[in-house]
Amino acid sequence: MGDMPADDFRRFGREVVDWIADYFERIEELPVLSQMEPGGLKNDLPDSPPETGEDFSDVLADVDRLILPAVTHWNHPNFHGLFSTSTSAVGIFGEMLAAAFDMKAMLWRTSPASTELEDVTLDWLRQMMGLPKHFEGIIYDTASVSTMHAIAAARELAHWSIRDDGMSGRTDLPLMCVYASEHVHSSIDKSLITLGLGLGSLRKINVNEQFEMIPERLAEAIEEDLEAGRIPICVIPTIGTTSTTSVDPVNAIADVCEKFGIWMHVDAAYSGPAAIVPEKRELFNGWERADSIVVNPHKWLFTPFDLSVLYCRDLKVLKQAFSLVPEYLKTSDVSTVKNGMDYGIQLGRRFRSLKLWFVIRYFGRDGIVARLTEHMRLARLFASWVEASENWEMLAPVPFALACFRAIPKHARDLDEVNERLMDRINASGEAYLSHTKLDGKFTLRLSVGSIRVEERHLVKIWELLNETLAEMG
Ligand code: PLP
Repeated sequence: MGDMPADDFRRFGREVVDWIADYFERIEELPVLSQMEPGGLKNDLPDSPPETGEDFSDVLADVDRLILPAVTHWNHPNFHGLFSTSTSAVGIFGEMLAAAFDMKAMLWRTSPASTELEDVTLDWLRQMMGLPKHFEGIIYDTASVSTMHAIAAARELAHWSIRDDGMSGRTDLPLMCVYASEHVHSSIDKSLITLGLGLGSLRKINVNEQFEMIPERLAEAIEEDLEAGRIPICVIPTIGTTSTTSVDPVNAIADVCEKFGIWMHVDAAYSGPAAIVPEKRELFNGWERADSIVVNPHKWLFTPFDLSVLYCRDLKVLKQAFSLVPEYLKTSDVSTVKNGMDYGIQLGRRFRSLKLWFVIRYFGRDGIVARLTEHMRLARLFASWVEASENWEMLAPVPFALACFRAIPKHARDLDEVNERLMDRINASGEAYLSHTKLDGKFTLRLSVGSIRVEERHLVKIWELLNETLAEMG
């Protein structure tokens, strides 16, 4: 009975850490995208669970035999698709210890370490990003969930008693509206589905030729809704949009929000850590005027998935929207203690701040700035190669560490088809991973630089691969 004996735990623990160290050392030998066909892993696994316990050595051997071929290696330095994100070694230690403590941070009493470390670590991050002191943070799993809570708080502040009376079956409640640019992340649409506001409440505001929201169009849309008796509740500018990392003009948008008294939620899920880099701080001008901001250390701060932070100007609004304490969770703790469960839909919460604390302490502000600065240099270097070549063109500016570009070979008839085929061939090769978007109707390749392991030679490799593949395609 009981758990694995301590000696076995030590032995297997060392084996697992060795395995991870070897994995990082040989990661470049592995194909970036799993080469497995759909269903491949399922077909190799037994249909039913074992009746008796198995030797853990056999289980670990199956990680090599079965699991590894089915892994797409997000930590590979040539993973350039979507946003390139990766874990650090200390981030892994944070996950290990959090799993060992296995606390469910709902009440301060059940998890003082998690509750207080979260406050301190998020305040360190706030200071590094140059946000004013009144911003207080709370950790959720993903930006999708952080943003959903921000919109729920904005809805609460609109004073239509949604918490008590809900939205369905009401004839007194006009349509509530949320505003974001055409380039907003789909998580906002999903938040509106989840919150019962509906997709019809989302106003997608036009962007300029740099893919930035046009504030005049925003003001017009709000005025139109107000005239029609609708209720604007939230505006969501993005600093670092998903397709191109464009930066909405947050100051001008904040002026509009202040004029009409609307909650401003800034989506800096990807870019937020870049605010730690002094030369990049001006791209964040105006975000200090927000009511809430989302930043994802699991994207570009070497923290293993998942860890998203929602900063609020006044966290009490979130509490007002979500706090609900049943008898069995009442405590005699002083009323000033913070109980994480009061700030969202989750009761138990993981001890996520530990890994971020490790990351910040291990790398320090300087180490973080050095790494992010290098990623941005590499993305600009890649862009300079594209600009200097007659076979390629850039399709968007590079404010952070993402290049949007495409091939423009001379005699090609259908550039979209050529670029899609090029991307598919590179991805199938296992050498690198690129993803795409559509900009002004054009199929656009996206190359993101963000891995903690990335070096200039990896950019040279993908540039050569792109050119060789294009040449092979004729
Ligand atoms: N916001 C932006 C700008 C993003 O780029 C993304 C994901 O790439 C998200 C939100 C959603 O992030 P998450 O996966 O943490 O929900």
